[in-house]
Parts: sequence; structure tokens; C-alpha cells
Amino acid sequence: MSTPHASPQSVIAGTPVSAGRVVGTVKAMAGPVTEPSPGSQVPVDSSPEAEAQRIKDAAAAVKAQLSERAATASGSAKDVLKATALMASDPTLTKSAVKLVKNSGLSAERAVWEAADGVVEQLVSLGGYMAERAADVRDVRNRIVAELRGEQAPGIPASETPFVLVAVDLAPADTATLDPAKVLALVTSDGGPQSHTAILARQLGLPAVVAAPGADKVESGTEVYVDGAAGTMSLTVSDEQREAARKFAELAANPLVFDGDGRLADGTRVPLRANIGSAADARAAAEKKAQGVGLFRTEFLFLDREDEPSVEEQTASYAEIFSAFGGAGAAGAAGAAGAAEAERPKITVRTLDAGADKPLPFLTEAGEPNPALGVRGYRTHTRSLEVLTNQLAAISAAAQTTGADVWVMAPMIATVPEAKHFAQLCADAGIEHAGVMVEVPSAAIRAESILGECEFASIGTNDLTQYAMAADRMLGALAELNDPWQPAVLDLVKATHVGAAAAAASSGEERSVGVCGEAAGDPALAVVLVGLGVNSLSMTPRSLPAVAEVLKSVTLEQARDLAELALEQASAAEARDAVRAALPILEDLGL
Ligand code: PEP
Ligand code: MG
Repeated sequence: MSTPHASPQSVIAGTPVSAGRVVGTVKAMAGPVTEPSPGSQVPVDSSPEAEAQRIKDAAAAVKAQLSERAATASGSAKDVLKATALMASDPTLTKSAVKLVKNSGLSAERAVWEAADGVVEQLVSLGGYMAERAADVRDVRNRIVAELRGEQAPGIPASETPFVLVAVDLAPADTATLDPAKVLALVTSDGGPQSHTAILARQLGLPAVVAAPGADKVESGTEVYVDGAAGTMSLTVSDEQREAARKFAELAANPLVFDGDGRLADGTRVPLRANIGSAADARAAAEKKAQGVGLFRTEFLFLDREDEPSVEEQTASYAEIFSAFGGAGAAGAAGAAGAAEAERPKITVRTLDAGADKPLPFLTEAGEPNPALGVRGYRTHTRSLEVLTNQLAAISAAAQTTGADVWVMAPMIATVPEAKHFAQLCADAGIEHAGVMVEVPSAAIRAESILGECEFASIGTNDLTQYAMAADRMLGALAELNDPWQPAVLDLVKATHVGAAAAAASSGEERSVGVCGEAAGDPALAVVLVGLGVNSLSMTPRSLPAVAEVLKSVTLEQARDLAELALEQASAAEARDAVRAALPILEDLGL
């Protein structure tokens, strides 16, 4: 691995997560602000009055910086920056910090820190919306302390011109202030292919590389070339690379558009659906002509809540989502493709997937030694069956009032009795189509029996990969293992298809297998998945046009050959390289 200041040819390599080629200037994200040591006093060469003035000046400077950034930012970054600027101008924090300097002789940094702790405590005790503002106060505190120390402000750096952002990893809060008009590409030293950075980059269509050691150490101002498909950042830029970036910018200026009809070159239908988490997502997906929803993550209604939302609240929320999508997706392609596409778009709802990285105070246990292997997903029904049956009742009611074609699946199914139990609960709630997510290797291996109990399967490659490879999906250090191109993961996809086909043959009924993990949005891997027998793919709507275009370039026979080629390889990297080399269209599209 090259080091950032090594030879002029040095290249930093990591895991590719979002395609695209750009040349740009690096800006590094500042590290976290450290706590000033407790009891640190006004320095001997200063005075309480001077320290108090420093606090006022620093707060004013932070407010001005945030307002200035808000004025030029776009989208949600603008709203977040405006709200934080407002918080910085609230005198409560500065006043109590000044008091601590004057009365207790604390240094300016320490006084701001302690004053902010006091404000946070008050907000948290008020609960609800006010408690949610605690994170904003901590953000403002960190910015004021950084200003007092003369350090770079934490978070996404401010810039007048677009730049390549390098960081250790992005925190979920950073993603809110990332302005896609300013960031050309993302390169992180940590973070896996399923990290926040990776998911955000794919949603925004930004070229990105993760788990690239040394990336965060590249000096701001360095000109680099980032290739998101190859997973590299070059610290010197050749003429060829400038040309590749120019070509990519040209392609990006005329983006591909999905026509709402996913097919292979020989006409084989492969419905391309959307992953959504809210009504806004559903509307955006329908606008992008997604052929329905392949994964509706229902957690949004439950997270950050002390109690379970009522059945009425859930029903209203699901109904909004079902009707937001209703009719606009697959129906849009009906003219060209005949009766099949005139069906109502399928909306696939996943029941609550709590636990592990999504704890819920009323359902999951804090302090499990291995939360990813703990009581999560479907397993939480053992703590409270009612939370699940209430959710199924709400989904069923919303499906009835909207007339949407709703399919319901459970996350983390591992055994045949679990599938049977879930299908029974769905039937009891009046839900017609019950299915399972295949995320645990045992479910893939036992797919035939599991699909004897329910109607469909959707493979969650994010979790399936972490469990097949025993590699935590959040860990950048394990990114190489945690790669859905791993031949062992592809074996499990194949096993699911083989099991589903056998279940279909013995029941005489259809048993469809989709993929809704991040793998479905990788155009080259999408071809392999279809070749392995997958019938539909679901992804962030951003990925639909590229996946559709690449699928259109191969026949089913070619997809099967490419799947075989991938299965023959010894590693994920070799499988990716072998398949990519056989798909020249990727190069033409800058993918
Ligand atoms: C998956 O595991 O692939 C999946 C789609 O679920 P999530 O990413 O929400 O765990
Ligand atoms: Mg999952």
C-alpha cells in the first residue's frame, strides 16, 4: 500500500463503492474535537474578562461561518446549516459559559464545554423534540471550542469550490451537511461497503472509495484522481486520467434515464424496484419509474421513539407510502411491454428490523455481547409478539384502504418453523403474500423447505455477506471479506434460487427470488445475480438507470455464463475483475 507522500506514482487503494471518475483538490475532514481537561483554568497570561470576550468572539465567528455556508449550500445541507447557525446565535450557551469563566475561573474552552453540558442536560430532561436538539448543541459546542483553539471546524469542511472529501469515515450526522454540489468524490480510510459513507455516496451518485488506508492523511490542497469503480485515488494525475475524468463529466451531464421496464437483451423481464424508507422516498422512486418497491424499511417510524407507534399511526403512515407509489411505477411502462406491466406495482414491506445497529428501547436489549448475532429482526417477536402483530394489522389495513399490491417479508429468518410461523401471522392479519428475507446462510441452504412455507424470498446481501463471511459489515478493516462478490456469497444466492425452483416445482406455484441488498445496485453484479437465477432486483433509485442499461446489454445465456465465471474465481476481487472485463459496456458508460 502506498503512503500519501511517497513516490509521484503513489496510488491509495480501497474498496470501490460507487462508480465515477473525477480530478479534484482534496479537503480533509477535521478529526473530532477533544474535551478540554476538567478544571482547566484561565491562563496566567490572560484574564477572565479577556477569556469571556474570546468566547463571545468565537460564538459570533461560528454563527457567521454557518450562516455563510447556509447561504451557498443547497438541499437538506442548507436547512441543517441554518438550524445550527440559529443555535449558535442563542445567547444561553455563551452567557452561561461567560459566567463560568468569571465565577469559577475556568478557561474559555472548558467553560464552553461545561456550559453546553448543562444545556444538553436540560434539553434531554424535556424529552421529545427538545431532546433531539441536544446533538445540535454539542455540534455548536465543538465548533466554538475548535474556533477558540484555532483548529479547523469539525465536520464537512467549508469551501467555495468543489473538492474531493477525504476522511476516516462519515458519521450519520455529517451526511446531513454534505452538499452534493460541493463534494466531487468521497474517499475514506475506514468504513465498509455498507457504511454510511458508502450508502450515502450511492444515493447521491458520488464516486466513492472506502477502506482505503492513508486516505485521511492526504494533505488538503493535493490534486488527485479518484476512480470509484476501480477503488483508487491517485496522488498524481496523468493526462489519460484527466481525459477519463472529462469523459465521465460528459456522461454525467447527460445522465441515463430508466424507462420503467427492466429487461435483458433477449427480452427476459427483470423488474427493477426501489429500496425506500419513507413517503418522500416512495414518491421519488415512482418518479424515477421504479417498477414497485422491493424493500420498504419500516424502521423510520420506530427509531428515536420511547414507545411503539399506535396501529392507527402506523396505518396512516403506511397508507401514505402505498398510495404515494400506487400506479406510477411499473404502470408507466405498460404501453410498450404489454399486459404484465399493467399490473399494480408490487410494494414489498419488511417488518420491523430492530436490534444490532438499530436499538429500540421498548423492544431490544442493550448490552448484548454480540448484537449482530443477537435478538434482532424477526427474533424480537420473542420479546413482544404484539409489536409484530400490531405492525401486520396496520400493514393489512393500509393495503386494504389503498388497494395496493402489498407483499410482506420478515428480516433475519433462519429456520423453517420461523418461516411457517411468520406466514401464519400474515395470514391471521389478512395479508395475502408472505415471504422471508434471506440474510442468514441457513435460510439460503434450506431455501426449498422455507419456500414450502411462504411465497417469496428477497436476498439481503448486506447481512448475508456479513454472516457468510463472519465479518462485521460496519468494519472497514474487514471490507475485503465483506464484499458481496465473494464467491461463497454467490453460492448462497444460487442455492436460494435452486431451492426456490424446487419448491415451485413441488407446489406448482411461483416462488420468486429477488435481491434487495446493496449488491443489486452494482451493474456488473446485477448481471451475475440474474445469471444465478434471481428474478427481480431492488436498489436505491439512483442506481436504476445504470443497472437497466447494463442488463439490456446481455442475454440470459450470457448472464448465466458470467455467473459461472464469477463462481469459478477464488476471491471477490478476482470475480469482480473477471466479470467486469467481460462487460465492455461498463467502460463506455464510465461505470
Ligand atoms: C440486507 O441486509 O441486505 C438488507 C437489505 O437489509 P439492511 O441493509 O436493512 O440490513
Ligand atoms: Mg439486513
